[in-house]
This record gives sequence, C-alpha cells and structure tokens, in this order.
Amino acid sequence: MVTSRDATDRHVHQGEPFTDDDAAIAAALEDVSIPCLLCSMVHLTGDPSWIRGELRPAGVFLNEYQGYMSEPDKAEARRRALPVIAAYRDGGCRLPPPPSPEVLREMMEFLLLAPIPDDSVAMFVEDLQLDGPSWADTTWADALPAEQRAACPVLIVGCGEAGLLAAVQLRQAGIPVVVVEKNDGPGGTWYENHYPGARVDIGSHFYTYANDEADHWSEYFVRQPELQAYFQRILDEQDLGGACRFGTEVTRMTWDDQAAMWRVEMRTSDGSTDTAAARVVISAVGSLNRPLIPDLPGRDDFAGPWFHAARWDHAVDHRGRRVVQIGAGASGFQIAPTIAPEVEHLTVFQRTAQWMFPNPNYHRAIPPGDTWAMRHLPFYGRWFRLMTFLPGAGLTMDRSRIDPTYAGNDDGTAINPINEITRSVFTTWIASQVGDDPELLAKVIPDYPASGKRTLQDNGSWLRCLTRENVELVRTPIERIVADGVIDADGRHHPADLIVYATGFRHNDFLYPMDIVGRSGQPLRERWGDEPTAYLGMAVPDYPNLFCLYGPGTNLAHGGNLIFQSECQMRYVLDALRQLLEGGHRTVEVTQEAYDDYVAHYRREIDQMVWSHPTITHSHYKNPQGKVYTLSPWPTQQYWRWTHAADPAHLTFG
Ligand code: NAP
Repeated sequence: MVTSRDATDRHVHQGEPFTDDDAAIAAALEDVSIPCLLCSMVHLTGDPSWIRGELRPAGVFLNEYQGYMSEPDKAEARRRALPVIAAYRDGGCRLPPPPSPEVLREMMEFLLLAPIPDDSVAMFVEDLQLDGPSWADTTWADALPAEQRAACPVLIVGCGEAGLLAAVQLRQAGIPVVVVEKNDGPGGTWYENHYPGARVDIGSHFYTYANDEADHWSEYFVRQPELQAYFQRILDEQDLGGACRFGTEVTRMTWDDQAAMWRVEMRTSDGSTDTAAARVVISAVGSLNRPLIPDLPGRDDFAGPWFHAARWDHAVDHRGRRVVQIGAGASGFQIAPTIAPEVEHLTVFQRTAQWMFPNPNYHRAIPPGDTWAMRHLPFYGRWFRLMTFLPGAGLTMDRSRIDPTYAGNDDGTAINPINEITRSVFTTWIASQVGDDPELLAKVIPDYPASGKRTLQDNGSWLRCLTRENVELVRTPIERIVADGVIDADGRHHPADLIVYATGFRHNDFLYPMDIVGRSGQPLRERWGDEPTAYLGMAVPDYPNLFCLYGPGTNLAHGGNLIFQSECQMRYVLDALRQLLEGGHRTVEVTQEAYDDYVAHYRREIDQMVWSHPTITHSHYKNPQGKVYTLSPWPTQQYWRWTHAADPAHLTFG
C-alpha cells in the first residue's frame, strides 16, 4: 500500500529507522520468529552465514512461526543478533546491498526446510517485494494518451478484497472506475460476516495485499472488525470513496455490440433503479455471500427468531437462551465455541463431520516485540509473510490427486499414501482433544478422505466446546422444524429459543443473481446451467470485456489465499487492458478454442482431485450432479504464471 511512509527514500518493507535502546530491542527479540529474524539479519549485514550455521529451524508446519527451534538455539540467535541490530541503529539504519538471487533462494529453502522448485522461485521473489511495493507497476499507463484511457470506463461490481484491489490498480493505471457495491461499505465477506467469533483462517500477514506492510494486525488470525476496518482504511487512503456507489446492486448487464459497451442496470437500497454504461466490467462479487438456508420442513413454523450466520441479528440476544445451530462448517466452527459459554444450551446439528488440523496460534494476539520487528527490522515482515505462505503454498497437487489404484479409495479412507498419513495425523489430533468419550469421537471423525472438504483449523476450541455440559453435537438428520425447536429423524425434540443457520452459501451459482446477457443475447446463467466454467476462471467467449475475479474454478482448497489469487487475476486483467488500449481496440474476448482447451484441461484435472471423490456426498464444492466447478486444480505457481501476462494468442480484439 502506498502510505505516508513512502515519503522517505526507504520503502515500507525495509522498516522504519528506530532509536530504541538495547534493552527494548532485547525485549522485542523475545517475541520474534527466530527463522525470520535470521533472514532479516542477512539483509541487515549482507552476510548469508546467518542462515548457514547450526542455528536453523528443525521442522516446519503451517502456522508454526518459531520453526521448532530449541530454546537454547533461540536464545543464542537473539544473543548474536542484539549487538548487530544495535550497530545498525547506531549507524543510521543503513543497509548493505541486497542479497543475490541465489542467497534469496537459499533463505526461502532455509525457511521451508525443503528445496523450492525452480518454477516457483520467481513467484516468491515477487511476493517478497524487496524492491518496494509494486502497485505503481502499471507504468504503461503513462505511455497512453489520457483520452484513450478515459474512453475505457470500467465498472467493478463488488467492493470486497478483490473489487477494492481492482479499483486501486485501475485508478493507478489512469483508467476511470466506478465500483458498485450492494452493501453500505467495503469489505464484502468481512462486511457481512460479523457473527460471533468470525475471524480469518489464513494467517493475517499473508491475508494482506502483497505490497502492504503488515505491522498493524493485532492477532495472527484477526477477527472480523479489524479486517473490515482494514478494507475501509485502504478505501480511504486511496481516496476511492467518491468512485464507489454503496447500497447499490447490479441486477442486469447487457452487452451492446454496436457501442461496444456493457449496459448495466442497478437497484439502490431505496428501491430506485439506475443504469450505467461501461466499456469493461469486472465482476468482483465473490462466491460465498449468497446465504443458503435449506428449505427444511416446517422452517417457517419456528416461533422464535432465526437467521443465517452471515446475517447475524445482534438485536437478538442469544445469552442465556437455548440455541440450535444448524450446520458446522467453517462458520459454525467459529460460532459454537464463541457462544457456548454464554447460552443456556447449544445444540449443534452437523450433517458431515469435518477434518481439521491443529493451529496453536489461531487465537493468539501478536506480542509487541513481534510488531516492533515487523515495523523496524529490515524485511522481517516480508519473510514472516513468506513463512506463512510457504508451507501451504500448494506448489504441487500430489497430495490432492486420487490414486485410483490405492486401496483406501474403496471405502473412502484415503486417496493416496500421503493422504493416509494426513488422515492419521488429523485423527490423532482430534482424538487427543476429545478425551475419554468414544461416542463423541465416533461423531467427529469424518468418513471421507482427509482434505476432501474444506479442512478447518483449530486451537482446540471447537472440540473443547463439544465436551461442555451445555453443548450437544447431533449427527442425526433433521426431520422438521417445529414452533419450539427441532425434531430429529429419531423423533427426538431439541428445544430452541433461537435457530442459527450456519448452512453456507450458493457457491456453485456464480454471479447469482445478476443477469448477464452476452453478444448473442444468451444469459450467462442459462449458458452455464449447473456447470459454470471460464477461461482461467475469468473470461467466457460471447461475453466480451467481462472479467470475473474469483470466478468458476478458482476457489482454493489446496493452498495460497484469495487475496493472492485476486492479485494474480488483476495482473492478468491489467495486461489484457493494456493490450486493448495499446492496440486502439474496443473489445477483448477469449477465443472459443482457448476456452474449450482450458475447460477440457480443467475437467481432466479436477476430476482426479480429492474434492471430487465419490464418498463425499455433501459439499458446497460440488454442483447438484456431484461435479466440482468451483475449485482450482492448479498448483499456485502455475496459475501465477498463466496470469502473469495475458497471452494474446488466446484473445481476440475488436
Ligand atoms: P459450509 O462450509 O458450506 O458449511 C455449511 C454447513 O451447513 C455444513 O455443516 C453443511 O453440512 C450444513 N448444511 C448445509 N445444508 C444443510 C442441510 N440441508 N441440512 C443439514 N445441514 C446442512 O458453509 P460455511 O461454514 O459458511 O463456510 C463456507 C465457506 O466460507 C468456507 O468453505 C470458507 O471458504 C468460507 N469461510 C471462511 C471462514 C474463515 O476464513 N474463517 C469462516 C467462515 C467461512 P454438510 O457438510 O453435510 O454439507
């Protein structure tokens, strides 16, 4: 993010100069990730021996920031670093030349404790941004006459993380933008999901725009209010408020071929309608925001209040009441442990058990010393971000690929040998939390391969919650809702004063409920039916000048994060627009051939992945026919490379 700190000749990732005394620095070092400290020391001294000695992490796992180093080793690292940091301070915080590309790779491998594949190094180097924030990279804008850029108004639908990113980058490219957002403020998911316990489950320092400093987060996995405030701050800092039409929903878009414009129809929250014309439309509507409330028999007979998790009504006091929570996916996992201590009784209906893995940092506040290091130690924050990224980067699909010859496939226990090990690790963790309760254990161990649905993470709060006296986990299906509760399929009545539906979203209905009518007059929803597909998840022939961020086949279940994914997609969109403008064209459209090839490739890959496994009967990743169209089957660096530039051979311009 471009902030006031750029006013100096240092860039934000280099860290702010400081004058703290030795004692303060020593205190801060007690809180830091030692592997990242050692990487920072390489920058600070220009000496790679910091990562070549005996002080090194002994193991690495997602969200383990300390790198499993022994306490004496950590103490030794701090002891060696302190005088060097003090000398850096005393010398005016000047840095030697940056590490060579070879040393950078060595540093990555030091953190990951494994070789980084050749094809991934460039992606990680780019993400490190050692040369400074890259949002100003759209230098091609200056080479184009202002009138040419002004003649290409772009309308962005949605002001969540993706829409905001698109708006910032297009503004920097000198292209006029309007953002239309149905909510009254920015943040998308993080505007809407304010249920108790809502927090991100990607590490905060990675769930940050790549060029932003990340020294402001208060927790390693921050809660919803801080995330919403983050997006609001960016909107304000980038002065984009005037470009946004909040409280306005796009209802329909029709392509006008003669004018080469999209005619966009909108409805405001007061019910009035409006229209706009745009040369290009970027849909950034997300895909997990249209609540799905199952049409359970008797649903409307319930006499008390009920609502969806993403529409939490804070006017309804759940404290001291009997609450039934239907659904226990990612949302339900966060709600139940948060409200359980406050309610009289909590009944959780879970149709399918969920796989989960341990994350001790899940609810941890960031200690002040770590924040100090993020702010002051050269590139410490960048290596910390990379440390969060690397172990779950999804550089290979081997873990997720079904081996049809593997025996576990038949009963759904495992899809390949690594998956078998994963099952065993996850099962051990779950069993260790449940204690001596075989009945509960049987309920919480999933009967499908590990990672087959969205794998959740927890610091123990979910399973601890289930062992509370006032909480019951029910795996018996729901028969019907009645005025005062829920009847299960065994005929048991579960009394309720309040019902919370944590039942997920219409994930397979991309771009719902917008009507999008392309050149030939066909609505996109009709064309897709239950099988939404798009080239790179972004473009569909017959729908020129339309790009979808987080479109079909781009949700991530194997690694990365959605902000990173949006950054990849926007890099592609900007390059396509560059080609459009430089060529003096009015339209850009993916060729039918490129689209067909991509979709066929997609189908071949996704059908082999664990999420398509036939033992998984209920999953928001699957369409009504049990096929997956939502998820990406691509290794992260492959999608990064494909989206790094728009291949003109796959596009037609008009
Ligand atoms: P979800 O994962 O789809 O979970 C929905 C829950 O409702 C599941 O337990 C599901 O059971 C149940 N359900 C749905 N229809 C039902 C029916 N007719 N009868 C009984 N149970 C039913 O939805 P979610 O928890 O809202 O999460 C959706 C996605 O949002 C996640 O995958 C994630 O991408 C995102 N999310 C992220 C975070 C985070 O970052 N912290 C938090 C929340 C959500 P089945 O499993 O049997 O289908």
